[in-house]
Amino acid sequence: MTQVFNFSAGPAVLPKAVLQQAAAEMLDWHGSGMSVMEMSHRGPEFIAIYEQAETDLRELLAVPVNYRILFMQGGGLGQNAIVPLNLLGRAAQPATIDFVHTGSWSGKSVKEAKRYANVNVAASAEANGFTAVPPQETWRLTPGAAYLHVCTNETIDGVEFDFAPTVQGDVPLVADMSSHILSRSVDVAKYGVIFAGAQKNIGPAGLTLAIVRDDLLDSALPICPGVFNWRAVADADSMLNTPPTYAIYIAGLVFAHLKRLGGVAAIERTNIEKARLLYTALDADDFYRNRVAPEARSRMNVPFYLRDESLNDLFLAGAKARGLLQLKGHKSVGGMRASIYNAMPIEGVQALVDYLNEFAGR
Ligand SMILES: *Cc1c(COP(=O)(O)O)cnc(C)c1O
Repeated sequence: MTQVFNFSAGPAVLPKAVLQQAAAEMLDWHGSGMSVMEMSHRGPEFIAIYEQAETDLRELLAVPVNYRILFMQGGGLGQNAIVPLNLLGRAAQPATIDFVHTGSWSGKSVKEAKRYANVNVAASAEANGFTAVPPQETWRLTPGAAYLHVCTNETIDGVEFDFAPTVQGDVPLVADMSSHILSRSVDVAKYGVIFAGAQKNIGPAGLTLAIVRDDLLDSALPICPGVFNWRAVADADSMLNTPPTYAIYIAGLVFAHLKRLGGVAAIERTNIEKARLLYTALDADDFYRNRVAPEARSRMNVPFYLRDESLNDLFLAGAKARGLLQLKGHKSVGGMRASIYNAMPIEGVQALVDYLNEFAGR
């Protein structure tokens, strides 16, 4: 098999060791004679897989005991509806949800939330082309808001929060961490709800994590669909209906792998080093351009443009020929994007940097 480095934004690269273990266990999991895909989600084998995954994730993120970890479906976009449907019952009607608009994904969250409540965009980085996180002093928050929603890593715009926002009173803070969960240390206690689709930094598409503080499990609107009701999902240990069993199994292998590497603090150090390497190369040559303010540059998703955009196709073809895959930017913003998630080895970033230098030289 040829060695490639896959810079896809998602579904994205997984640790090779995890894929090898999954391949070895594909037909016969631990002598059970069954593939994990063939097991009942209520049988002892799968329950063991699920419980280990939950325990390892709780340890990796230091999730406090008063939070539930829910393994759900519906993706990050699903949570854009599931969050309001589960939280709006706690606010006087008509309720207002506060948002900080930092890019494409928080923009989609705003759009969906408008179906359920009044929306206040407390701050927006739209005017500057989503190249920074608006300073918290400038946010115009609503007293008594149902909650405040932020996207702490904007996957398309390459903008990442380097701080945990503070909220007023008991307004819960909700964070979409789909594309940087487990890449850096997070103080979970600062958040009411954290959600993340799995396909960026955790495992296969089809699994969505929601980490919900206990006191927020019981505020659903009556119209909230039963399978998306956090209290019901929590009471059923995420097995209200059939969960995405194989995706949970792979996620569990990824969690165990991260623990072997030394946990989130260790992977964060590597991620800082990878990002430094890539941004330094992009800044060094005015052939390339990343417009994001230095303190808001994402460690996970690095969008960049060639100064001469007529060379885009040539750049991508040359990259592909060297096994540097899926570098094309999101269609909404164009240019290039290198996603360098946890599972991207530093050798992959170095190979990209070497190519950047060589292409600019030519
Ligand atoms: C990918 C992504 C989503 C959408 O996830 P789906 O699983 O496709 O619904 C939402 N938010 C962020 C930040 C993402 O990166």
